Amino acid sequence: MNPEIDALARLDAADREIARLEAEFKDRELLHRKLEEAKKAAELVLVKAEAAVVANKKAQSDRNVSLHRWADRRRSAVRALETAAGDPSAAERQLSACDAAIADDENAVLDLMLEMDARVAAVAESNKGVHDATEAVGKARDGFPAFRNVNLTAKAKAVSQRTSARSDLPRELLSKYDLLSTKGFSATTIVSDACRACNASVAPQMQADIRSGRLETCRGCGRFLLSS
Ligand SMILES: [Zn+2]
Repeated sequence: MNPEIDALARLDAADREIARLEAEFKDRELLHRKLEEAKKAAELVLVKAEAAVVANKKAQSDRNVSLHRWADRRRSAVRALETAAGDPSAAERQLSACDAAIADDENAVLDLMLEMDARVAAVAESNKGVHDATEAVGKARDGFPAFRNVNLTAKAKAVSQRTSARSDLPRELLSKYDLLSTKGFSATTIVSDACRACNASVAPQMQADIRSGRLETCRGCGRFLLSS
């Protein structure tokens, strides 16, 4: 095999491995950020759920205060009727007004109590959400040192392979390679008689030349064509 092509293939493989490992590292960082965000969102849901329970308790307490007030008024109306003190029709009106208000407050308290069940269930669910999100963050954090170690070790190996491949390439070829690398990977392969990178067709004669060990570049994008 042409040693230049061999070195080029090794350089391309090392560059792709480095890019893959760097992307993997970024993805991992992104995952950590997403998990932290999910945890914050879950905590916010819990805060809202707890606030809804507090609001429900306050509403129940307000209704109960109102209920007692109406009950007091009702008692005084009943007393007025029993003792025939004052205007009896006014006392009757007050009595029915009190009954209506009491019924209203009692219904409201019942509704709030029913609602409270749902509110309490929501708090329990939110607590579980926070617990799960916290666990996911912890797991990711715990696993990070090992991941980082594997990733960085693999990258160091690929970087050393890159250095070795570069030292095996003549300077001119290397300059061309580096110039091409500003637009992505500098080498590519042929798939279905076409350049994998730009899809320009590669003539059968050129493919035969490549197979026999000649270094060729794509007519479309200029990348080095390696046999796959
Ligand atoms: Zn091409």
